[in-house]
Amino acid sequence: MEKVRIQDDLYTFVNQEWLDKATIPDDLPMTGGFASLDESVRDTLIRDLNEMCEKGNYSNKYMENACRLYSKYKDTKRRNREKMRPVQKYLSKIEKLKDCSSLNRNLKELVLNSYPLPFKVEVMEDMSDTSKRCVAVFPPRTILPDSSYYKPENAQQKEMMIGLWTNMAHMILAESKLSPENQELYISDALKIDAAIGSLVKTSEELSEYTKMYNPMSTRTVSGLLKPIKFRQLCSSLFDSVPEVIIVTDPRYFKSFKTVFNAETFEQFKHWAYVRKLIDSTSFLSEHLNELGSMFMMALTGVQKVPSAEKRAYEYVSATFANPIGNYYGEKYFGEKAKEDATEIVKEIIEQYKERIQKNNILTEQTKKQAIVKLSKMAIKIGYADYIDPVYDKGVIDESDSLLDTAIMIERIEKEYEYSKLHKPVDRGEWIMHGHVVNAGYNPMFNDISFPAAILQPPFYSINQTRSENLGGIGAVIGHEISHAFDNNGAKFDETGSLNNWWTKEDLKKFNASTKAMIKEFEGIELPWGKVNSKLIVSENIADNGGMAVTIDIMNKSKGASFEEYFKNWARVWCLKAKPEYLQLLLTIDVHAPAILRANMPPRNFEEWYNTFNVTKKDKMYIAPNKRVVIW
Ligand SMILES: [Zn+2]
Repeated sequence: MEKVRIQDDLYTFVNQEWLDKATIPDDLPMTGGFASLDESVRDTLIRDLNEMCEKGNYSNKYMENACRLYSKYKDTKRRNREKMRPVQKYLSKIEKLKDCSSLNRNLKELVLNSYPLPFKVEVMEDMSDTSKRCVAVFPPRTILPDSSYYKPENAQQKEMMIGLWTNMAHMILAESKLSPENQELYISDALKIDAAIGSLVKTSEELSEYTKMYNPMSTRTVSGLLKPIKFRQLCSSLFDSVPEVIIVTDPRYFKSFKTVFNAETFEQFKHWAYVRKLIDSTSFLSEHLNELGSMFMMALTGVQKVPSAEKRAYEYVSATFANPIGNYYGEKYFGEKAKEDATEIVKEIIEQYKERIQKNNILTEQTKKQAIVKLSKMAIKIGYADYIDPVYDKGVIDESDSLLDTAIMIERIEKEYEYSKLHKPVDRGEWIMHGHVVNAGYNPMFNDISFPAAILQPPFYSINQTRSENLGGIGAVIGHEISHAFDNNGAKFDETGSLNNWWTKEDLKKFNASTKAMIKEFEGIELPWGKVNSKLIVSENIADNGGMAVTIDIMNKSKGASFEEYFKNWARVWCLKAKPEYLQLLLTIDVHAPAILRANMPPRNFEEWYNTFNVTKKDKMYIAPNKRVVIW
């Protein structure tokens, strides 16, 4: 086979050898890049957790609790013996609900113990003033992974998915106490309710414009919308005082709430809740039930084998005890010195970003000044947190409880803790992404950027890589996260993280036009597994482009820098091999462009790409200068 030319396809040119050799593990949908780092962090922490559990030698009381939970999850003998028993009492509780008023009488318990309900209540930062918190209502998750599958044009995919799900539900319900007729009835009712919800709730594309979830309404109005749910009564039982305003995240759904949930649909709703509670619980029940409960997602992601109990135990515990485990990982494998080094790199990139904005000849001075204020106030979180959240002091992992009871107890503690913070001041030192997570993030409501220890590794970053390679790796990722402060969503928040327009009218118009240009750049691109949705991925594409722009500036200033190394490492970090089913699913639900496009699209907007590899009109990675998009 002829080798591809770098001028035609940077991604394949750099990663070909790896792509030819790599095999996707049977129990995962993908490997390479981020996913491979994830696997190696997982293997390291599984080894450490096993050793700690064996020796009873814990680094602190939080890790001791984490180990207890980990061991409980790994105890497959017990779970196999218990079979359906642990979930039975939760299912009976649903069966006993007679009507809307009995639901209302039990509502607080149902909310706190994570029963499926037609709405969810959360406490979050108030976007209009992020020094405060507010109460928000969300719709429930749909059975299908995105509500767009309920649109008529996706009928074929919907049928396929519903077929897979129904098959799984039948196999699980066959193990329950329900009669065969009732199994049939419960499943068809669950699907009816899901279709009603799915026809109303936002699609991933709509959700990607996340500022549109901020719709404050009076509690009185919301109580009216949610009738026959006694929402005000619920609020007074959950919070020390009933809030005056509620954020309605999905107005289309809540304005039609009564069509989904009412006295007539109550029985259907109960069956929906029963089936969902049972399927959601399978990962905490016997290995056999877990296997059945994984069938749907495995089929949708092309995964062939259920991960071992040990790997699942790790996934669960590392998410549940994220703060202690992230700190443990960061302290042991990253350390203070690396934290200082990485902080310096981030500061350098922020300074360069300011310079870029200063030189920007499209925006007015007024907008530029505000953008620079936002950069100056941006907080940096590197490596791992320097605290343990007090929520980890609550609750003890009891040997005698079933795994399911323990999981529900933990979720309840977390919920009560979140709810208790409603009237307390917001702590901006809080971490969302902990040390062991291979990812990076920008939080628009805190105006902060996070780079956990786990991503500060090769190919992203290493003292053994050249500066050019590090700039093409972690440098561009840092620039990407900074750019989220100025993407189509982030640009709506000010330097304190509150929704506040700091743009002049004319600048905003120009900015919206360039967002459209970015949508256009990706429009209609077809990959072997499907077409990209350029609106869904626009904010991430703006960020990728911004990250490249600012690091190219630094490259241009650096003596002896090699653009060849820079672009090649940029392509290396995106190398990915994934199951076709998974790639297809991502096209619908992921706000990021497919890896090959993340590697190949941004470079062609920059002069340096053309100069370094002598890319001309004849090459596939060429676009005419007037079509190139540079926003930041
Ligand atoms: Zn991003």
